[in-house]
Amino acid sequence: MEKQGQRCSGLVLVPCPFQGHINPMLQLGAILHSKGFSITIAHSQFNSPNPSNHPNFTFLPIQDGQTDHDATSTDFISLITALNVNLVFPLQESLAQMIKQEEKKERITCVIYDAIMYKAEEAANHLKLQTIVLVTNSAATRLTHFTYPQLQAEGYIPPKDSMLRDLVPGLHPFRFKDLTILNFPNLEALLQLIATTIKIRTSSAIICNTVDCLEQPFLAQLKKQYQVPIFSMGPFHKIAPPSSSSLLKEDTSCITWLDKQAPKSVIYVSIGSAASIDGRELIETAWGLANSKPHFLWVIRPGSVRGLGWRELLPECFKKAVEERGCIVEWAPQKEVLAHVAVGGFWSHCGWNSILESICEGVPMICQPCFGDQRLNARYVSHVWKVGLELDNELERGEIERAIRRLMASKECEEVRQRATDLKVKVEHSIREGGSSYNSLDDLVNHILSI
Ligand code: UDP
Repeated sequence: MEKQGQRCSGLVLVPCPFQGHINPMLQLGAILHSKGFSITIAHSQFNSPNPSNHPNFTFLPIQDGQTDHDATSTDFISLITALNVNLVFPLQESLAQMIKQEEKKERITCVIYDAIMYKAEEAANHLKLQTIVLVTNSAATRLTHFTYPQLQAEGYIPPKDSMLRDLVPGLHPFRFKDLTILNFPNLEALLQLIATTIKIRTSSAIICNTVDCLEQPFLAQLKKQYQVPIFSMGPFHKIAPPSSSSLLKEDTSCITWLDKQAPKSVIYVSIGSAASIDGRELIETAWGLANSKPHFLWVIRPGSVRGLGWRELLPECFKKAVEERGCIVEWAPQKEVLAHVAVGGFWSHCGWNSILESICEGVPMICQPCFGDQRLNARYVSHVWKVGLELDNELERGEIERAIRRLMASKECEEVRQRATDLKVKVEHSIREGGSSYNSLDDLVNHILSI
């Protein structure tokens, strides 16, 4: 990319410090690094990534002013607001410092920030730096966010219990119960945050970790909402060179365990990095897994069971009943797990990264969404792509057992499993030369070079 005598382009990336946001941002960094850009990750100290996993990047810690207490706060809006407010000046200072130290061979071309870290734009603007926004969830999620003011004005928000199963006008097949705002304790504050994060003020483009073949109609509608180009160039994890940006240590012993299992015989179970269950749900899940035939790999993240630790809660008789049939770890190398030949199903909380990772390996899903965009994603899986089943009721062992048996082995779900394989192939085409994501990445590189 660099011509003789020309200065190399430096990009500053500002991730939002949660696992489901850090992963796509660092993958994007790796993709753009492979295209010749130098990458600096300006990150908060809270949940900071491990620089040794990314030797090609420069890491720039920003004083975020978070105490441990703030950082573990369950009040999501306050945490996001504090991260943004605390970030703006230190980031601005760090960027100014970088500009001062710019060598002849390199200049900062652009700041790419996670849509949730909206104050990064302010810091960049102050120094007359261009910005691009990264959206880490689906185009459909973003599109639903545009409809909230009107739905609110028409009295649909908050939705009444009697409407929950109704389709949202203009957003077929999503129902009111799928919306991100559902059951959120501080609705007004959430709507305000959404209104702030969907706005494009001065940024010159939007990057989405999605694929045209997955979201064509919603992407087309989203493009009408914005005056700037949208680069849908996912799934990032398949385009970026393999690496890990896990905040927790990956327990690779589960791969050794998977190596001993028959092809497509294992259901992988994980609720991601932020969702949690209570003790009753843990026990129901345990017995649902024990009573269903397939072997299972179950991630029980530290802190993901509210109340006691899972080790104390799981009864001895469960451990005896499953013995070698089950493997439990606290954090798995998920992409490797889903790509393993032994894995035949994924019981997922439906975070957007997990969905993309599952689709890319042709693994059909059981959807157990918890909050935020997970319900929309679950609806996509079960009603648009039809590559999974949705657990619709309270977690109960009988229902879990039936869902696992259906997904993994029943004749009834043969088509679901076949569609999952077909969708994987479609996505593979998108990232090959001439495919939509491949072309979109080229367009993004040209866009950045034109800045
Ligand atoms: N993940 C992982 N190991 C685990 C569970 C999750 O590496 O044991 C990764 C997973 O591959 C994904 C991310 O954590 O990239 C979770 O992001 P997602 O959007 O699926 O859900 P969130 O955690 O944001 O709810």
